[in-house]
Amino acid sequence: MSGNANIVANILLGAPGSGKGTQAKRLVETFSLTHLSTGDILRDAVSKGTEIGLRAKAIMAEGKLVDDDTVNGLVFARLLDETSDVLFDGYPRTLQQAQALEDFLSSKGMALGSVVLVDVPQEVLEARVVGRRVCSNNACGAIYHLESKPPKQAGVCDLCGSPLKHRSDDTAEAFQSRMGEFHSTFQPLLGFYKHRPNFRSVDGNRAPELVFESLRHVFGERA
Ligand code: AMP
Repeated sequence: MSGNANIVANILLGAPGSGKGTQAKRLVETFSLTHLSTGDILRDAVSKGTEIGLRAKAIMAEGKLVDDDTVNGLVFARLLDETSDVLFDGYPRTLQQAQALEDFLSSKGMALGSVVLVDVPQEVLEARVVGRRVCSNNACGAIYHLESKPPKQAGVCDLCGSPLKHRSDDTAEAFQSRMGEFHSTFQPLLGFYKHRPNFRSVDGNRAPELVFESLRHVFGERA
């Protein structure tokens, strides 16, 4: 397949724990977008034991980044199969990924849509990540927090009844490593996008509903 030239690729940027995964789920429903989370795509590869999954498993558990070529390859394969506009969550993560995405989109006649940063101060992030619990059923993927959004029954997903799990990269130790990675790669990435006319930043240090209202407004501007 050579790809659908009408596709618009939107990007949600933010640190681990910024809430971008939660917000992305709501945005894709509201605006009928396809949610492309590279973290979810990689976790799926790990659970299926594919060749990429086997390589990525240890890297992810340590909170390090999977290499750019592998991630770009997974993303571009998905984009070629897409028939609706997409929202990236967790991609691009490096300047190289951003540049490769730009080249890929222009080579296929696809467009870059909104690039939106969910901005949260660093001190808030660790508490959010370490308390996060996620549904172990990949098809559900609901996200909880032990304090701010506990499930009705401890350890059980409200939506589908599957057990909740603590992601191996959501421990305090892995969080430090992920934040280290994030800081070294994020500033160049932000520099790449922040002067674009389609770049926006929203204050992510608020109740999820308020953050969503701001995001809905930003994405609605372009709808
Ligand atoms: P996330 O669910 O977005 O926090 O991603 C979980 C893990 O998957 C990250 O800590 C990385 O190991 C890996 N990963 C996800 N997206 C990317 C990406 N764009 N580039 C490199 N590694 C990634």
